[in-house]
Amino acid sequence: MRAAVVRRFGQPLRIEDVPVPQPGPGELLIKVLTSGVCHTDLHAADGDWPVKPALPFIPGHEGVGLVAELGPDVDRFRVGDPVGLAWLHDACGHCEYCRTGWETLCGEQHDSGYSVNGAYAEYVIGRADYVARLPSSFDPLTMAPVLCAGVTTYKGILETEARPGQWLAISGIGGLGHVALQYAKAMGLRVVALDVGDDKLVLARTLGADAVLRADAADAAERVQQITGGGAHGVLVTAVSPDAFTQALQLTRRRGTVSLVGLPPGEFATPIFDVVLKRLTIRGSIVGTRQDLDEAIAFAVAGKVRPQVRSARLSEINDVFRELKAGRVNGRVVLDLR
Ligand code: NAD
Ligand code: ZN
Ligand code: ZN
Repeated sequence: MRAAVVRRFGQPLRIEDVPVPQPGPGELLIKVLTSGVCHTDLHAADGDWPVKPALPFIPGHEGVGLVAELGPDVDRFRVGDPVGLAWLHDACGHCEYCRTGWETLCGEQHDSGYSVNGAYAEYVIGRADYVARLPSSFDPLTMAPVLCAGVTTYKGILETEARPGQWLAISGIGGLGHVALQYAKAMGLRVVALDVGDDKLVLARTLGADAVLRADAADAAERVQQITGGGAHGVLVTAVSPDAFTQALQLTRRRGTVSLVGLPPGEFATPIFDVVLKRLTIRGSIVGTRQDLDEAIAFAVAGKVRPQVRSARLSEINDVFRELKAGRVNGRVVLDLR
């Protein structure tokens, strides 16, 4: 099968012919139809994070496909069933986190396209207990981003604890942010969208943002305070810049919660005085559980969330990465492997 392979960090991916993997017990072989390109895949290929993937590896964790073969003991799926492969490839199932509905925090987890091979390939292995079941009819191109951008931002919004009618500030209107905006509107929130690209703000407006602002404007925080009447109840940071993390605290209302999902390498300054006196909550949020994933998919199936996608071929992956790095992808690029 053809696959895009990372052999060295920071080097172009290579399109290679590699053996089709064989499904073991509890596993499914999935014929990949489409595969979304998340900025995380770029961090993975660049070796950006403290824990790096073992080389070589195949990235991709927004995989949409059909079950091609069942491993031994798998009885919950049939050949031909449509499924979605997400970041959480599997978890141990018995630790404190797995038992309390926080399998995303399991220390024994495997992650698609990071610690196990992902969906930038014609076939990929998924775990029957962790893949998402998709409806019989859907668009494989627009469904792909739901599997990471969708579930991650849906969960991230829930983690802000902002309630319908309240304000959510979304910093970063890229692949994640433009989907976040649609979840937020569908959940009854008012949204102020911030990005450093004008095209991103145009898209945010089209998708129903109540206000849009350049994050790099000198008065951005002040404007958000004015628009929201004292700051946003929830702030979701998807931006790939540590500056956006520092700015997020300036956008937050007293007693508000900042939900951090962007993962640029680095650190950010936290003004202790503001956090303490305004009783702010700063919270990390990592993808979502299987239940979150099903809920996120339901929004898409109901037509309430529809990622803006542009399709590309597997062989174009290095161009797509270059554009993503330069901030030139508006919405999501999805690899079409059909
Ligand atoms: P993307 O490149 O599509 O979008 C990032 C956006 O941030 C771009 O629109 C860019 O213009 C904007 N941006 C850059 N600097 C900014 C600033 N200072 N202020 C506001 N906006 C700014 O990337 P993506 O696929 O949406 O992923 C975003 C980040 O989220 C990545 O770091 C990725 O690894 C991370 N991520 C985290 C999780 C999780 O579970 N926590 C899941 C998926 C992705
Ligand atoms: Zn992702
Ligand atoms: Zn566990």
